[in-house]
Amino acid sequence: MLDNKKLPLVAYFCMEYGLESNFKMYAGGLGILAGDYLKAAKDLNVPLIGIGIKWKQGYSDQCIGDDGTPYDSYHNYTYDFLEDTGIKVTVKIRNRDVVCKVWKIEKFRNNPIYLLDTDIPENNGEDRWITGQLYGWFKEERIAQEIVLGIGGVKLLRELGLNIDVYHFNEGHAVLAALELIKEKMQSGYSFEEAWRQTREEVVFTTHTPIIQGNESHTIDALGYMGAFNGLNREQMVRIGGEPFNMTVAALRLSRKSNAVAQLHAETANKMWKTTSGRSEIIGITNAIHVPTWVDERVTKAYEIDGDIWKAHMENKKELIAFVEEKNGVKLDSDKLLIGFSRRAAPYKRSDLIFTKEEIIAPLLKSGKVQIVFSGKGHPLDDTGKKIVGKLEKMTKEYPNSVVFLQNYDMNIGRALTRGADIWLNNPRRPLEASGTSGMKAAMNGVLNCSILDGWWPEACQHKINGWQFGDGFESDNVEELDKHDCDALYDVILNEVIPTYYENKEKWIEMMKTSIKSTREYFSMNRMIEEYYEKLYIK
Ligand SMILES: *Cc1c(COP(=O)(O)O)cnc(C)c1O
Repeated sequence: MLDNKKLPLVAYFCMEYGLESNFKMYAGGLGILAGDYLKAAKDLNVPLIGIGIKWKQGYSDQCIGDDGTPYDSYHNYTYDFLEDTGIKVTVKIRNRDVVCKVWKIEKFRNNPIYLLDTDIPENNGEDRWITGQLYGWFKEERIAQEIVLGIGGVKLLRELGLNIDVYHFNEGHAVLAALELIKEKMQSGYSFEEAWRQTREEVVFTTHTPIIQGNESHTIDALGYMGAFNGLNREQMVRIGGEPFNMTVAALRLSRKSNAVAQLHAETANKMWKTTSGRSEIIGITNAIHVPTWVDERVTKAYEIDGDIWKAHMENKKELIAFVEEKNGVKLDSDKLLIGFSRRAAPYKRSDLIFTKEEIIAPLLKSGKVQIVFSGKGHPLDDTGKKIVGKLEKMTKEYPNSVVFLQNYDMNIGRALTRGADIWLNNPRRPLEASGTSGMKAAMNGVLNCSILDGWWPEACQHKINGWQFGDGFESDNVEELDKHDCDALYDVILNEVIPTYYENKEKWIEMMKTSIKSTREYFSMNRMIEEYYEKLYIK
């Protein structure tokens, strides 16, 4: 247990926070993790505050058009529960002063989060849009957002007069904060080298994406033009982030210690950044979830008193079925197996893997023996992702009574699905899924994971005991070979394990549900994760 009196004060920087479904400050897993983290910080009463951005329009709403393809739309949101701190900080972007108003949010039983907002009359029209859309733009506009988060974030901490011991960058977006820390030290007389060295002692970093292209980089010219050098020269910038300037590389070089978000991901990340000189060590601290946010109390209660866990599960399942009927007009059957799947629509997640062999899957879907509820968004600027969504939507037309796609994935959908499905399917190309926290939500709700051994699952999986793995951890650079291998393995486990157990051995199923909860509810709870962050990253 942590001794709260001696803990360092931590400022946690993140581009997005998923605190509540309709508070649209999040896009996906990164934000959910950050929101859960700040809630658990409150539960445990640890000295940690969040820094983020107040998004005018949040992330895109992605719905399915009449032609069956997804389209994005943006809306202005206003919230009456944000507290005006009265603080304003100014950052220089494109050689203009941009004023950022600071809001504070602690309404969701979370430790305070300070949100920077440029949509105020002091700024010109272009600058007011810097905090317009979360991940809405690339290049210059993204750099502007990152200047606000990083440099604006440090300035706001100074205004608050807090003595921050540790600056935690959750993902590389916040890395410019370190340039402000360096600048402060150089202004008080230290050399660049010494300022960098001292800054490194204060910074820790969490890396999230095992996909090379997912690690954002910018040209040095663009950074210079936008004003992101923050007083450093070109050569110093290149030494920090390379050319082009990679945000992850920079964060690894500006931090004392880093972590990946699962043990397998730590191995992957260390391989990925093996040749990066002067970087911090990357350890593994596995992600977790805020249990009160995601886990159904009826299930927990039934588990704790050894009560009727099936009954509690069926209540959740019926609620999900009612939710689906209300949204899509499809009435699923509560006595038939229900598979839940919701992921960001990215190719490596292979959302449509289960449809690969029609001769196998079609009879199961037509008879209703298998029902699948999908959800997920593609990135608004990624046509491949949108094609995947379009393909899933097409499947709902082919199997109208047993395949459903819930549009505009958000926390409410995530909650309903990870409570009400019977199994939670996950079939990424290993090792590209960093963590996969939705599986933890499912596991603690007694929803059995059926997953590739990727992300968190290798740490939890007891095959046929608390869920199932398939694929045996196979990896291959030959994508066709890998997909074929995993697809065969998926059908094998569904046909020979999941379906027979569900329909013919409910007793074993229920036993597995209990083991699923038992084996995950402590280790994958946010409380464990916070303790590990303090013990392994924050406390020296
Ligand atoms: C839990 C959750 C996620 C993260 O889950 P993954 O397993 O990483 O995909 C993303 N979005 C929403 C809305 C969630 O509830």
